[in-house]
Amino acid sequence: MRIFTHADAAGHLTPPGHPERAERLAAVKAGLSEVEQGGLALDWREAPLASRDEVLRCHPASYHDRILAAVPAEGWAQLDGDTYLSPGSYRAAMRAVGGIAAAVDAVVAEGGAAFVAGRPPGHHAETTRAMGFCLFGTVSIAAKRALDHHGLSRVAIVDFDVHHGNGTQDLLWDEGRCLFASSHQMPLYPGTGSPQDRGAHGQVLNLPLRAGTDGAAMRAAYDRIILPALSDWKPDLVLVSAGFDAHRDDPLAGLEWEAADYRWLAARLWEVSGGRVVSTLEGGYDLPALAASVAAYVGEMTRLGG
Ligand SMILES: [Zn+2]
Repeated sequence: MRIFTHADAAGHLTPPGHPERAERLAAVKAGLSEVEQGGLALDWREAPLASRDEVLRCHPASYHDRILAAVPAEGWAQLDGDTYLSPGSYRAAMRAVGGIAAAVDAVVAEGGAAFVAGRPPGHHAETTRAMGFCLFGTVSIAAKRALDHHGLSRVAIVDFDVHHGNGTQDLLWDEGRCLFASSHQMPLYPGTGSPQDRGAHGQVLNLPLRAGTDGAAMRAAYDRIILPALSDWKPDLVLVSAGFDAHRDDPLAGLEWEAADYRWLAARLWEVSGGRVVSTLEGGYDLPALAASVAAYVGEMTRLGG
């Protein structure tokens, strides 16, 4: 498994008490160390800075430039109720976008799997609106890169973060070459994710889950709805918005998944992918649960040959 990350990811600072904090990256690294201590080899690579044009695959230039101009010289600039910029935020976000771009390039060229350990997350960022801790639609930009730069014809995004990926749905609403399948707690922030929302080409698949849904119920729902849809789609590449906040210990939501459920997801997603998976970190706010879940997910996909 290739791991794309960069020290700049910890340079995106949020105000004291904010759940999306730099310490999350250390928890992810602890989880990845656990994988290595278990005897599996990880291939560590530096996440490059994305170009401005890369961001423009999904956002207008005016939006990119507005984010860049809002970066404060010190302290914080607040973009919405819970989304902040610190002096290092733009660089961190551009490493996240650059990391997933490099991961897509590597996996398209050589096959296998990659995990991008970056922040801030991206799946709530809409075309012209930063929200929910997110600045740029990282996973959507990666899908467009795979389609437009590499010429793939069928891409799928699976989003198992506990929150609906409203940004991904918005950015790819008209993109008939990309299946977007999301499971999420409902009702919960951001309030979107109804199964009636199907995208312009019927390529959006929303699977809402009630608070309290445990791993067994999640597996049954994936077996019944998301995995068959993925199989039918026959993707050339599977991108994963890997948020780990459906874990039972997570403070922001109320699902009851455990680390072993992320191991199960890794195996199933690897199986239907045809051998090309790029996962990128989204949420996950209880640090021990995040470390254990990342270890389970990355460890299993690596063990299977990703
Ligand atoms: Zn989330």
